[in-house]
Amino acid sequence: MTTVDLRVVNARVVTPGQTLVGGVAADDGEIVAVGSDRSLPDAERTIDAEGNYLVPGFIDPHVHWGLSRYEFEYHEGLAHDFETETRGAVHGGVTTVVNFLLQPDPYVPDMDYFVEAGEENSYIDFAYHAIIHKDPHFEEIDALAEEGVRSFKIFYNWYKHASPELGIEHSDAGRVYRLLDQVADIDGGVVMFHAENEDLAYELRQDLQEEGRNDLQAWTEASPNITEAMQIESIAKLTEFTDSTAYIVHMSTGEGVDICRRYQQQGVDINAETLPAFLAHTNDEDLGVWGKISPPLREQWSVDKLWQGLREGVVDYAGTDHCPHKKPFKEKEQGKYGDMWEAIPGDNNGIEYFLPAMMSEGVNEDRVSMERLVEVCAENNAKRWGLYPRKGALVEGADADMVVVDMEKSAVVDDDFYHTMEPRYSTFHGDELTGLPTHTIVGGEVVVEEGTLRVEKGGREYLPRYDDGVPLE
Ligand SMILES: [Zn+2]
Repeated sequence: MTTVDLRVVNARVVTPGQTLVGGVAADDGEIVAVGSDRSLPDAERTIDAEGNYLVPGFIDPHVHWGLSRYEFEYHEGLAHDFETETRGAVHGGVTTVVNFLLQPDPYVPDMDYFVEAGEENSYIDFAYHAIIHKDPHFEEIDALAEEGVRSFKIFYNWYKHASPELGIEHSDAGRVYRLLDQVADIDGGVVMFHAENEDLAYELRQDLQEEGRNDLQAWTEASPNITEAMQIESIAKLTEFTDSTAYIVHMSTGEGVDICRRYQQQGVDINAETLPAFLAHTNDEDLGVWGKISPPLREQWSVDKLWQGLREGVVDYAGTDHCPHKKPFKEKEQGKYGDMWEAIPGDNNGIEYFLPAMMSEGVNEDRVSMERLVEVCAENNAKRWGLYPRKGALVEGADADMVVVDMEKSAVVDDDFYHTMEPRYSTFHGDELTGLPTHTIVGGEVVVEEGTLRVEKGGREYLPRYDDGVPLE
């Protein structure tokens, strides 16, 4: 038998369909064998997993590298974020990201740069979604598909009043119809939605501010569950009308689960993603401005419904909405109790606690099986974004992206926890999470072991999706 590059042995290996006792062998960056330890070939290096789980690296389908262009020039910001944030990703067990492109100008002329920025600076492979918000963006959808970008996010009735500095144009039902209809003709095409009705939220916010409210509950009351429910209902109807595919990002409410289930049962291709914050936190906690995210934290009923939806297959995807910023955001950094209305919304650093939070709150709390969690955080994300079976599963021929997870290892999410840039606050700040990676392997290379980074940045690949209309092999 030939000698391969790497083996991980003595593991509980989570593969599609079964969890087996044994290991995985990798050579030239790919998985070459999965099975009992005795069945694996000899290797240059062997890692003993000590009976821990071996799972496919998590795939984060929702990150915003490049937002730090408000602190840097745009292009410099994208390259910067790839380095700092994917460094955190590998410490946390995430081995692929799909990043949102966002700019006012057309995207296609800058594609070479977007690819180069990632390939030179990332610790992991990456793909792109594009945010469609200006008229010229609508005209380049087919060209973007040719470049391997086949998912398009639209802000349906959002950003009319919020964050004008971002320069994002909101869209009405007419534009949403146009995008869904156009994308319906693209293989693997998906339209992604932030689902919150800002007309209603704007009215409510005025009232709460006039009352002098400055608490986290007020942030939720300014965009109550109905703002999400009414948008999802409308998105589902437009998706049915156009026979297209929709994906609700960061779904936060129990109502959303019920609406998605109802339309899914009618055969409408509407899909839902949620975030660790909505699965672990409620708006009645003492989080102050650190709990300000958009959409807002909900009540325990929604948390329980989201877990139920995740177990049942209504909620099939999880991601982080990681938005890195370099500039110090005083309201959040100076402590928990700043101005609720002025503080920037968002968990700016979720990618590093994604896997630990899902292991801790999901598997270790018996809310979900390890196998289902791996589907939602790896396999399904790979399938939805046209990356399967190269990514998302421990099977022969796949990229050797894998993580050893010790379900008893714990850490507190504090300033020392992170390897991303300067986070200092989040909905998870101060929480103890149990279920952490001990080894992160990317393309057969041990990238992080026991908290130590072993490689230099760069040398990773852009993943065009559905190349020539077929999923990547
Ligand atoms: Zn987002």
